[in-house]
Amino acid sequence: MINAENSVLRFGYAVSLYEEVSGVTMSQLDALALFFPGLIVRERTDSEKTDAEFNEHDCVIEASAVNGKLYTGNDGKVRQLTGRLYGTAKGNREKERKNAELIRRRMTRDLCSDEQRTVQLKEHIQMLLSRLNDVQRERFEDVLLEYIVFLAAGRAEMSAYEKDAEAFPMDDEVFDGVVWNAAYQLARWNEEGTAAAYLWLLLGSLLRNEAGRLVRLYDSSFLQVYGQRGGETDLLSRLEYLFSPQEFEYTYDGDDLGRRFPGIEWFCDRCGDHLNEQEGFDDHLPVWKCTRCGYPNKLDYSAVFDSREQLRDGEPADKQKMAEALRKRRQKD
Ligand SMILES: [Zn+2]
Repeated sequence: MINAENSVLRFGYAVSLYEEVSGVTMSQLDALALFFPGLIVRERTDSEKTDAEFNEHDCVIEASAVNGKLYTGNDGKVRQLTGRLYGTAKGNREKERKNAELIRRRMTRDLCSDEQRTVQLKEHIQMLLSRLNDVQRERFEDVLLEYIVFLAAGRAEMSAYEKDAEAFPMDDEVFDGVVWNAAYQLARWNEEGTAAAYLWLLLGSLLRNEAGRLVRLYDSSFLQVYGQRGGETDLLSRLEYLFSPQEFEYTYDGDDLGRRFPGIEWFCDRCGDHLNEQEGFDDHLPVWKCTRCGYPNKLDYSAVFDSREQLRDGEPADKQKMAEALRKRRQKD
């Protein structure tokens, strides 16, 4: 099933894996609407056979549904546009190439500005996969694994020229991030992991280099990497911290002062689950056993990191400065 041509990350191919296993075949418009509801295609309320159109203002494709299927119509432009998102259409139709790029950017921005939307998308994919029966589900996990291995192996054999010559080239860093996240999630061998794995492949193949923003912002399970603490996430603050850590001051303006670690979000060191949301979680405990995977996570300052880089370098956040920020915050009340 997988040949050399398909070892390239393409949205159309990622979709065909689902089609093959489920037995459902879809038009390009229908697939975009099915996997990313409301994000790329907006359904018109009429049920007339009106050609689909690209709405430049909102950067979405508007289409009418006829007998439950979206109607592309005779407008070659929308066909060219979806073809570009799919990775099938080539040629020199500059306007449609540009519009595809605009859709990618707008969609990435939407997904980066609202973690909830991304989590909902993952749940949506999980819901779609839950329609598969046990045999199909197992088969789907197999084809995903096969695809991931072919993607990685195929990429390793591509020359820099071949990578750049793709219609929408992807940087190695982005490609590797997407495929790694998919692999990591698939290796959990459960429904949520399979859904997350498939979503990474769908998003990576569709958004191309724009997916780099998602890779940087989210961990493989689409949770934001570490809690955002007030005042520290803007670029200037981060630069300040980077270049003069001794002068950097934490500030805190949250309202959850009843907690031992106000403003800190905890994630399981093993499975990445958001511990704050687990039932019964209390940050006054010295250790919290993850209710999803059972891993005992230490809850103390030595496990609080300001950034992924600090986590990697094993440099926890400054306990004194954090305590000082909380003291100032408490005084304000
Ligand atoms: Zn866990």
